[in-house]
Amino acid sequence: MLFNYMFIALVFLGFFGCSSQEPKSKEIDTTDPLQKLIEGNKRFSKGKFNNNRSKDLLSELSNAQNPYAVVVCCSDSRISPNVLFDTDFGDLFIIRTAGNILGEVDLASIEYAIEHLKTPLLVIMGHSNCGAVTAFVKKEPLHGHIKTLADSLSNEPEEQALVNMHDDNLDHYIRANVIHQANFIKKNSEIIKKHLENQKLIIKESYLDTKTGIISYN
Ligand SMILES: [Zn+2]
Repeated sequence: MLFNYMFIALVFLGFFGCSSQEPKSKEIDTTDPLQKLIEGNKRFSKGKFNNNRSKDLLSELSNAQNPYAVVVCCSDSRISPNVLFDTDFGDLFIIRTAGNILGEVDLASIEYAIEHLKTPLLVIMGHSNCGAVTAFVKKEPLHGHIKTLADSLSNEPEEQALVNMHDDNLDHYIRANVIHQANFIKKNSEIIKKHLENQKLIIKESYLDTKTGIISYN
């Protein structure tokens, strides 16, 4: 009898052993979404990547997506969330604008992910030496639609407070802008308010140091 049980156990072990040889695919993952981003960024900063950006995974996800985080960040060519968080296809729903400055249309994108894709985490990420915020702080002459970025920043109460204090620390303005975008989202989106009240969503303000690649959270 004992031999029979051992035989059955070996058959099962063999079966699962074979399945682990198959290409890595998306499985149910109960890890906290923020923890996953933190761990991914740790891997990135150590140069020890562990992601699946295979054609097979993209194909597997072709009919549906289930991202665990929405990331709002700058359009800056150095700020690539999938690389910085070492994520797979389908993990992140990303909204990128210069200076991570949000408008009505961007809110719609965020709401789509929160309401329809049930994404439970929203990260707003500023970064060191952000060109858009620098242009505002240094009062660089801007023309065309680019000027709307500086105008938008100058209308933010969080930025105005720093200007009034004659603060000349660029990082303070970058971080204040992130706080403003979080406040803008909470104030202007009924859908996001509802998800926050129902504890279906967490919003985190964050900052990327481009010298170290490390992302920190408020
Ligand atoms: Zn930037």
